[in-house]
Amino acid sequence: MQSLLLPSGRPIPKLGQGTWRMGERRSQRPQEIAALREGIDLGLTLIDTAEMYGEGGAERVIAEAVADCRDRIFLVSKVYPHHASRADVIKACERSLQRLQTNYLDLYLLHWRGGISLDQTFAGFHALKTAGKIREFGVSNFDRADMEEAIAQPYGNEIAVNQVLYNLMRRGIEWDLLPWCQQHQIPIMAYSPLEQGRLLQNQTLGNIAQRRQVSPAQVAIAWLLRQDNILTIPKSATPDRIKEHSAAREIQLPPEELKALDQVFPPPTGPVPLEML
Ligand code: NDP
Repeated sequence: MQSLLLPSGRPIPKLGQGTWRMGERRSQRPQEIAALREGIDLGLTLIDTAEMYGEGGAERVIAEAVADCRDRIFLVSKVYPHHASRADVIKACERSLQRLQTNYLDLYLLHWRGGISLDQTFAGFHALKTAGKIREFGVSNFDRADMEEAIAQPYGNEIAVNQVLYNLMRRGIEWDLLPWCQQHQIPIMAYSPLEQGRLLQNQTLGNIAQRRQVSPAQVAIAWLLRQDNILTIPKSATPDRIKEHSAAREIQLPPEELKALDQVFPPPTGPVPLEML
């Protein structure tokens, strides 16, 4: 399955592209644009960014990469918690739209929970939705208790996704957040699926990859994609790695390989506070 449905019924691709660390250095820009373009050509049309990434630099890189194909892209950005009051969230979104050279975002997320009350933020998100500046909104780095509180707010029933840290090395959400989101049909957007590259040194992952003649990154991505309510956004500024990520959609992991991964990366046996990177 290449996409899943948001609670509104709108489809979202299951595999996309992250952009953290893009837009920080001018000299890297051509390579970053080439990687994003490679992904778009291969159908990785979900692009995740944030006003934080390169302090707007990543959004500017994306603007160039999607200039001639914006309508095919599912574009996600995020607002800093300190810009999350009703009035500031609207201003922050308008700055993001300006940098991205577009007039709407497909999805706008609160990057993590800060001191501003959620009803303020959601009122701002709702106003942006009504004005056609965003199509959907959601949250990021919200644990189960945050989600319970969030859905009880005005407009909280419109939350489209929760973007959290989830990969083989970080399985804590399987205890309660993941089942809770499944029950409420709110997809989880798994960030840092490769643990920023650190996961790829693992021997078991390497052995499985070698036997199947794929890469460890592909196994790590396939492990996430096999789950119904999960989408993920691996980042690479290297076009060949983007090709690898794209091909991970074809990989089915059989029960014996899933069992071997469970042995090295055991699922949680009790509650684990949500981790963040
Ligand atoms: P990832 O787990 O996606 O790993 C990215 C790192 O791994 C980069 O250094 C990349 O290097 C390297 N890499 C990528 N592919 C391969 C490969 N096939 N083989 C070897 N190394 C590889 O980490 P991210 O933290 O970037 O997470 C993905 C995205 O999630 C972010 O870019 C961002 O959009 C989002 N995110 C959201 C957060 C939130 O708080 N909401 C927090 C963190 C991330 P290179 O680029 O040189 O290829």
